[in-house]
This record gives sequence, C-alpha cells and structure tokens, in this order.
Amino acid sequence: MTDPLRLMAVLAHPDDESLGTGGSLAKYGSEGVQTYVVTATRGERGRYHGGADNPGPEAMGRIREQELLDAADVLGVEEVKFLDYMDGDLDQADPNEAIGKIVHHLRRVRPQVVLTFDQAGAYGHADHIAICQFTTAAAVAAADADYLPGQGTPHAISKLYYICWSEREWAAFQAAYKKLTVTVDGVERYTTPWPDWAITTRIDTRKWWPQVWEAVSCHASQVSAYEKLRDLPPELHEALWGSQAFYRVFSTVNGGRERENDLFEGLRT
Ligand SMILES: [Zn+2]
Repeated sequence: MTDPLRLMAVLAHPDDESLGTGGSLAKYGSEGVQTYVVTATRGERGRYHGGADNPGPEAMGRIREQELLDAADVLGVEEVKFLDYMDGDLDQADPNEAIGKIVHHLRRVRPQVVLTFDQAGAYGHADHIAICQFTTAAAVAAADADYLPGQGTPHAISKLYYICWSEREWAAFQAAYKKLTVTVDGVERYTTPWPDWAITTRIDTRKWWPQVWEAVSCHASQVSAYEKLRDLPPELHEALWGSQAFYRVFSTVNGGRERENDLFEGLRT
C-alpha cells in the first residue's frame, strides 16, 4: 500500500491558515489528503472586535485557539498543534528550540509537502518572517539523523513551499484594507507582491471559496478586520480565494520552469 499523502502548514497566528492557505487545505482535505496545521502562537495580541473590551492576552489566546479549531474543522484539517509562543515575540524565540519543536512535528506526522510564509512574511510581519526561517531550517534538520538524535525517526520532506501573493491577490486585499502595513523598529513595511513569473505553482481553489470564507468567518474576534472583506465585489473575492499561489523552495521529486497546478506533482503514482 502506498503512503497516504500528507500536507502540513506551519504558520504564525490563528487566521493564517484560513487567509493564507485555506483554499489549499480545503481542496486537498476534500480529496483525501491528510492535512495538518501547526501554529506558533495563539494570536494573543490580536485586536478584539475592533479594540473595545480586550480581555487580555491570555483570554484572547483561548478565544483565538477555539476560533482556529473551528476554522480547521470547516477546512477538513485532521489536527491542529500549537508551538506555544507569544504573539509578536516569535523572532525573539530561541532558534534551536523553535526549530526543534517543528522538527518534532515533521518527524511525527511525516508530511511529504510543507507550506509556510514567504521570506518577506507576506507584508513584513516579523512573526511571519520568523516562522518562515524556522520552518525552512526545520525541513532540513528533520532529515538529519545527527539533529536531535533519538527524538523521532528522521524524515525528509519532498517539497517545501512559500505562500505567494501576486499583484492580483494584493489588489483585492488592498481594496479591503486600503494599505496593509506593519511598523518594525520605526520602519514601515508593506506588501511585496511576487512577480507573476516567479510563481512556480498555482492551485485552482475556486470550488472551495465558500468554505474558505466560512473558515475566515470563524475568526469572529477579528471580525472588524474581515467585514471589509465581506463588502468586496465578487470578482475581488474570486481573486482572493479562487486560486492560491506558491513558490516551490525545493523539491526532490520534480522541477523545471513549467508552472505546477498541484502541490503533490511528482508524488502521485
Ligand atoms: Zn499572521
């Protein structure tokens, strides 16, 4: 019997799984791929219904944990695990500890395909950049028998992907958010769309967009941010959820210039 296909998304906050990888998780889950989400924080510092009556980080973490579990249910995700870091502090984490935690999940679940944020963290978000770096390192380390010897059987994933946002997708987001920025050390960071030619992989997720939107809506504590999305015209909704773009960081099973339309290309027998 062949090994079942497994997909793992390693992300920073509750809602990243729906906004960043929702279409892919829903599609592959519905096609019998086992899907897993690992989230570094519980989003403890997220806004709470627009800012009023914020219950504090601990309660916020519990609320957002449940929102993530509900969204994962909608997306057909098998399992959600947390790395137990504090929202906003991920780039201060001890790298060996963070990489070790991800290696633990990679060796336990043994996914062939792993998804994470791109090196710019979508729009410069420091937690997103940190999880990208930790996950990339963990993908290498998990296969190394000398890394954390005795802690699980080494596992080499076959493909690592970064989430890409193209001009088209950013245009839809910008229409809802005006300008998505974050200020780090006094410097304003903003969206950096991927050039279309650099996108190695595009997955058609149109069929699943209502499911993705339902998953996004599970994050009710963040709703004031999302209700702007609800007002988007249908063509922008389709631009946002109708397909998902990725950059194939590495693959040991395929390659070449032709754009893929399947994250498991090269792995299907
Ligand atoms: Zn995030």
